[in-house]
Amino acid sequence: MKPKRIYLYTESHLPENGWFQGCLRCASITARLQLHKTIIMADLTKEVYVYICPPCQKSLTISIEEQAFQHICAQVLDEYQTPVEPKPPSPRSVSSNESTN
Ligand SMILES: [Zn+2]
Repeated sequence: MKPKRIYLYTESHLPENGWFQGCLRCASITARLQLHKTIIMADLTKEVYVYICPPCQKSLTISIEEQAFQHICAQVLDEYQTPVEPKPPSPRSVSSNESTN
């Protein structure tokens, strides 16, 4: 069965069934669609699309990357904070006996 498509956008002066709608995030007019999610039900599949302009799409991509990076930072920090020894090692200064004469 063909999925039922649902479109999310910011209302504008444009007709409801047109190619162009208001970006859901900033309301600027765009034809750019992005599949948000697919909902599978017993007798029906729904595809939810959002109108999102290229600048908003780009900024969302960056923020998702930032979130992933923050997640990595949190994981590394957790590993660092997990005590292997009774006390985490403190930074040591490295000294060399060789002179640079
Ligand atoms: Zn936008």
